[in-house]
Amino acid sequence: MTYRAEYIWIDGNTPTAEIRSKTKVLADGEEPGIWGFDGSSTNQATGDNSDVVLQPVFQCPDPVRKGDNILVLCETLLTDLTPHPTNTRAAAREAMEKYGDQQPWFGMEQEYTMLEPDTKWPYGFPPHGFPGPQGPYYCGVGAVKIAGRDLVEEHTSACIEAGLAISGTNAEVMPGQWEFQIGPVDTLTVGDHLWIARYLLYRVGEFHHVEISIEAKPMKGDWNGAGMHTNFSTQAMRQSYEAVELAAKSLGAEGKPAEHLAGYGHGIEDRLTGEHETQRYDQYSYGVSDRGASVRIPWQVAKDGKGYIEDRRPNANADPYVVATLMTNTVCGALA
Ligand code: ADP
Ligand code: MN
Ligand code: MN
Ligand code: MN
Repeated sequence: MTYRAEYIWIDGNTPTAEIRSKTKVLADGEEPGIWGFDGSSTNQATGDNSDVVLQPVFQCPDPVRKGDNILVLCETLLTDLTPHPTNTRAAAREAMEKYGDQQPWFGMEQEYTMLEPDTKWPYGFPPHGFPGPQGPYYCGVGAVKIAGRDLVEEHTSACIEAGLAISGTNAEVMPGQWEFQIGPVDTLTVGDHLWIARYLLYRVGEFHHVEISIEAKPMKGDWNGAGMHTNFSTQAMRQSYEAVELAAKSLGAEGKPAEHLAGYGHGIEDRLTGEHETQRYDQYSYGVSDRGASVRIPWQVAKDGKGYIEDRRPNANADPYVVATLMTNTVCGALA
């Protein structure tokens, strides 16, 4: 008997890295070991020196193939077995090693847009026009307001069957736009689970002939962009409001806003306009309950006097390893 391992890695595509995967058929009892691929086809190598190494780092049941089949998330390595320059997980590993004793937790809210693959027009928009203005769609119910819920439900079930830390889903402000959340889990796990959850979303989308886009501003004009709000806490923040405020302040320290925005996803200036529940990209602010701030302190956190902060800036197309590394190093560095 055999089973299948789907090896999943992140490519070198610019400006936004994408998921690649391929299948290895294994004999029963055979472990998924080191493998490789042609990096000249993924923007990760030149043709004359094309081999890139796949190092399995996280595996879970494959909820699409079911049975004994598995998903195998990999880090990419050079042939000397050091991290490939596009391997962003390596830095997340280091941040976790350095600051793991502060017990960093992340909850990431992945927004995305369903598109009709032939026209790239949002799913739920009339074929040659626009739906009514935003208002009724966020967390809406009913066939007039909602498109694509079957896909969302299948994706959620798949994430649960895979054992991912999915914590919820909701319909978003723009029709055809949805969100799922991963967390709370540590600096490394949030990226592992979120990348696998993205893989499953694209995969389930194939069955529905729906394209999934994590573009930050898929529709110009008076339509919300797609973000990846990142909720963050440390053990100290979960115990004291002073630590919560210090964390929010640390993200605004000299040089920090620019450093973070550079890692928060392509096209961030187009999304962080100061409209549509965002703060402008060139300003930093934080506040209780403030969805127009860069960083929000949830009202419950202010009331309880402890908890977490929400960095509202990351784009939907950001790399969760990069976002988690930046936040861990900045906030844990300031709290140390
Ligand atoms: P919003 O009100 O901004 O839409 P969501 O409910 O979509 O918030 O997402 C909140 C996320 O924060 C969830 O993924 C949740 O697991 C996570 N979360 C909750 N508590 C903490 C915490 N103490 N530290 C980090 N993340 C947390
Ligand atoms: Mn949310
Ligand atoms: Mn949202
Ligand atoms: Mn949010």
